[in-house]
Amino acid sequence: MKNIRSYIFPKTVEEAVDALALSSSARIVAGGTTMVFSKDARVETLVDITRLDLSYIKEEDGFIKIGPTTTVADLLRSPIAAKFGGGILAEASKRVAGSHIRELATIGGDLAITLPWCDLQPAFLALDAELVIYDGEEKNISLADYYNDRELMKRSGWLIKEIRILSDQKGIGVFEKVSRTKIDYSTLDIAVYLEKEGGVIRSPRIAAGCAVPMPRRIGEAEKILDGQVPGPELFEKAAKTAKNSLRTVTNLRGTAAYRSHLIEIVTRRCLEKAWAALNGQEA
Ligand SMILES: Cc1cc2nc3c(=O)[nH]c(=O)nc-3n(C[C@H](O)[C@H](O)[C@H](O)COP(=O)(O)OP(=O)(O)OC[C@H]3O[C@@H](n4cnc5c(N)ncnc54)[C@H](O)[C@@H]3O)c2cc1C
Repeated sequence: MKNIRSYIFPKTVEEAVDALALSSSARIVAGGTTMVFSKDARVETLVDITRLDLSYIKEEDGFIKIGPTTTVADLLRSPIAAKFGGGILAEASKRVAGSHIRELATIGGDLAITLPWCDLQPAFLALDAELVIYDGEEKNISLADYYNDRELMKRSGWLIKEIRILSDQKGIGVFEKVSRTKIDYSTLDIAVYLEKEGGVIRSPRIAAGCAVPMPRRIGEAEKILDGQVPGPELFEKAAKTAKNSLRTVTNLRGTAAYRSHLIEIVTRRCLEKAWAALNGQEA
């Protein structure tokens, strides 16, 4: 951050996007907990979006709507997050860093970038979240598609204006983070969401983050579960498929081989927990 020459507080979302579009050396800053470590010498302008009234969590028009500058701490304190989807958003928020960082780090900042410590991404993927992107016009894009859209990520002159989750989802989500200490960056994040119809699984979603090059849904394993009567063998098969479908990475927090091994174990455990919770028991 040594070349910063201007720090702007835009008054509106339009002004923020204009400032970003005007200069290739401008970047958004929200909580600043990642930006503060940036060594990108090209960055000369920071556009601070924390005074745009974009901090809220509300239920409206069939969606849970979350403003991008809502902090992780606010998500953790939110009664909506505690209740919705079995409390998966609260569980994921609790595992983001320590309490001081959570008061600063924003949901938008955690979802926008694909760095290997952003714990909220798999939880939001498992809830099939979508982003409202503003670049002069509003566009909706599913979070899963956003992580595949490298062109959008590279472009300047846009921001995440809102995060939306369909509020009529009646299933249960489970999030697990494996880390070396309680507040360390993640070795692996897995999030699972299941619904129950009669005795079978519906709308299964499984997502992985931090151990993989990009956070992603594991459609290969989801297909195995959809419409099936659950049981140990089915969960084992889905967990093995999850492991075999993902390319894992090696870094300070674990080798690729260790992370692959964990994917199978943690996915199976999350599936068991989610199904048990749907049936009102502890897994
Ligand atoms: C010591 C430490 C430990 C941490 N541990 C964890 C952890 O365990 N788990 C975890 O999940 N996080 C952790 N974090 C926080 C991590 O930095 C955040 O997850 C996230 O990146 C921060 O959000 P922010 O608001 O601070 O983002 P910023 O630093 O302000 O921005 C991050 C990036 O997102 C972009 N951005 C921000 N808002 C938007 C928007 N609305 N639209 C488009 N782009 C946007 C910025 O331009 C920048 O590129 C840790 C941080 C620190 C300092």
